[in-house]
Amino acid sequence: MIDVPMLPLNDGTTLPAIGLGTYRLNGAQGVVSMMDAIRSGYHLIDSAVNYENEGAVGEAVRRAGVPREHLRLTSKLPGRHHGYAEALQAIEESLYRAQLEYWDLYLIHWPNPRRALYVEAWQALIEARARGLVRSIGVSNFLPEHLDHLITETDVVPSVNQVEMHPYLPQHAQRAYHAVHGIVTESWSPIGRGRELLQEPVLVNIAEHHTRSVAQVVLRWHVQMGAIPIPKAASPARQAENLGVFDFELTAEEMAAVATLARTDGRLLGLDPATHEEL
Ligand code: NAP
Repeated sequence: MIDVPMLPLNDGTTLPAIGLGTYRLNGAQGVVSMMDAIRSGYHLIDSAVNYENEGAVGEAVRRAGVPREHLRLTSKLPGRHHGYAEALQAIEESLYRAQLEYWDLYLIHWPNPRRALYVEAWQALIEARARGLVRSIGVSNFLPEHLDHLITETDVVPSVNQVEMHPYLPQHAQRAYHAVHGIVTESWSPIGRGRELLQEPVLVNIAEHHTRSVAQVVLRWHVQMGAIPIPKAASPARQAENLGVFDFELTAEEMAAVATLARTDGRLLGLDPATHEEL
């Protein structure tokens, strides 16, 4: 089993340097995929109320046989529950579905700025942490302006911001903001959803040079950028491949070559947190 390095969070806890994405891992098949992943060394699991697989996460954890305290289980609050009381209930329901006593990390899934309730949602997450329902709290898809608002209103800095990130969208400004505030960046769609990105000649060349797969090169790039990638893979073979990124290093020249892939608007699905509504 691969030993994944642990990274410190600003609240004194830690997260593994890579996690498992679970969007579309549902039901019995999802349980088997997640259980395989946990046994092979994925100790950070990314779920969400809206993925409808929190039950599968809990079942996979119970079957995997890895001590609960070694795991970092994540879920996310949907936009329809941003009101304070509703958010707390949503977190309780989320625990009941997973049959867990606590989540290690709970995130506000999207800011939904037009609804203007994300500060209330954040106050609910702060309270959920005080009540022991969650250990660490953070956000997802929050732009610096949204983070500024949360911090000004509550004085509580999120531990994590999970954002879309891959070589087409390296998130320079966002990561600079995170660095100043001690927020850890998690990368969603880290391998570009396994599509066009993995055919890029620049990446194929680097992969050939290291005798690695292109997915491994991209995931190693995230690690060296200081972000935590959460690739989703259903099969044990791809899960193991994606985990194998801690025994080689990209040179400064290779990192610079990957940087040439950045696009002005690299969002794969055009989901802009300033306008996107996800309920
Ligand atoms: P991704 O992890 O970049 O890519 C997943 C796709 O790549 C799947 O189709 C997978 O297929 C394939 N794949 C996995 N490993 C591969 C490999 N080594 N070689 C080739 N193909 C490979 O995309 P994602 O699922 O969009 O993002 C990852 C996770 O981020 C999600 O699952 C979810 O947990 C989270 N997420 C969060 C947000 C948010 O708003 N916070 C948004 C999107 C996603 P198989 O599974 O068939 O192997």
